[in-house]
Amino acid sequence: MFRKLKPDIKCASIYELDTESLRRGGVRGLFFDIDNTMEPYSTPLPSEKLTEWLRGLTAEGFAVGILSNARQARIAKFVDGFPPELRDRILYVYKAAKPLKKGFRKLLTSAGIEPNEGAMIGDQLYTDIWGGNRAGLTTILVPPIDPSIEPPFVRFKRIFEKPFL
Ligand SMILES: [Mg+2]
Repeated sequence: MFRKLKPDIKCASIYELDTESLRRGGVRGLFFDIDNTMEPYSTPLPSEKLTEWLRGLTAEGFAVGILSNARQARIAKFVDGFPPELRDRILYVYKAAKPLKKGFRKLLTSAGIEPNEGAMIGDQLYTDIWGGNRAGLTTILVPPIDPSIEPPFVRFKRIFEKPFL
């Protein structure tokens, strides 16, 4: 299990991702956690910066997906915040139950790609990274955008992340 908590790549933020080298490595789909990866927990809608950046990724030919353990209402509202032409291109799974593999498989199927063509980007070892590794994706860990507003359960899990960071 511990081996599977190790991300393949660490990155300072989603905006620092080296998408060109990922592409050269065969990655065709980029799957993201929302909370504290794309935006802070308290942010209901995507920012202009995020919107433009994701638009760029889809223009480059990447499949873009959201894989979140959050409720449907949170995800639906967030995705609705993208302009329609972008929203139509973004795949998403809510209540994904990461680290279980099923949500990852669902996104891979929707994107029409194999596990080794997908990358999971997230801020939590026990959901995003562990799950992504189990499902056979390239895993990329980013630091939480704003750890001061995490729910208590997430803060609790952070204690157990420390030995592996
Ligand atoms: Mg998160």
